[in-house]
Amino acid sequence: MIIVLKPGISRKEERSVLREIRKLGYAPHVMRGVARTVIGAIGDELTRANLETLLAQFPKAIESVTPIQKRYKLVSREAHPANSVIRVREHVIGGQQLHVMAGPCSVEGEAQLLRTAEAVRAAGATVLRGGAFKPRTSPYEFQGLGEKGLKLLAKARRATGLAVVTELLSETHAGLVAEYADILQIGARNAQNFQLLIAAARTGKPVLLKRGLSMKIEEWLLAGEYVLAHENPNLMFCERGIRTFETCTRNTLDLSAIPVLKHESHCPVVIDPSQGGGRADLVAALCKGAIAMGADALLIEVHPNPAAAWSDGAQQLSLDSFAQLMKELRPFIQAAGREPAH
Ligand code: PEP
Ligand code: MN
Repeated sequence: MIIVLKPGISRKEERSVLREIRKLGYAPHVMRGVARTVIGAIGDELTRANLETLLAQFPKAIESVTPIQKRYKLVSREAHPANSVIRVREHVIGGQQLHVMAGPCSVEGEAQLLRTAEAVRAAGATVLRGGAFKPRTSPYEFQGLGEKGLKLLAKARRATGLAVVTELLSETHAGLVAEYADILQIGARNAQNFQLLIAAARTGKPVLLKRGLSMKIEEWLLAGEYVLAHENPNLMFCERGIRTFETCTRNTLDLSAIPVLKHESHCPVVIDPSQGGGRADLVAALCKGAIAMGADALLIEVHPNPAAAWSDGAQQLSLDSFAQLMKELRPFIQAAGREPAH
């Protein structure tokens, strides 16, 4: 249920309300806005009688109590009507600025990563992407450089000032990856690995949750709910294409997920056109569509030599194509009422 407190109530009154909510068996999550404070109380929805009891006890402190009908609570817009913004180093994701996260599919080595990082920063990206732990469909394919890759990402961050997003594959690596990353990516193949989501949430780092290969939006929102329910409000959803009957593209990028997520949730939305289409020649068009439909950020694969990439070669942009793309996107970003973030 959502409890809206009256403006200007004291912290003491607020604490009494919180105590009462806990007594009824609910976990309260406090969200402080500029004008007022809202409490999301999570558990089974209260019966009418309990709601009335709570209201009656605090007529001066509580403005309204509304049950949340949806199965997801904290990620829902009902719980938090304003868009959430996520602070990542000096950046704000989910606000006025549109952010571009770019870099190779996999971290392959120092020269490859640093060269890419310099180039994407110069072109206007604010976050460097790169997989150190890679979730490969075949066990015989490159599995990532592991901790060595994380160290290279940290080195690239020092050299360029870019923030770092990288995938967390396993619960056992949560502490390790969080030491190096500014944002933890949960990949499509792990989107409903709930223990992993909890471990990611507990690191306190922002979480970028990819959509699972065959995941309904409601299931995705519920997976995101695990992050917020474990005391981490910094969640973004990343659409990266879903599995359909279509084979011209690697996946079918579901751009309609953007307005649906924006309607249902306050969390920022990121679009990954690289896994989405699986083809470098489609990336520009998919980015433009995503911007027009209200995406808050883009996650784009870029490699100094895509043809020689150790993973996802067909979908990675060259450094020059990425620089060209960033120029091409500017008018689209402005037309969508946003600003480029750099
Ligand atoms: C990736 O970003 O390289 C990746 C493996 O993504 P996904 O989990 O969306 O397939
Ligand atoms: Mn990839």
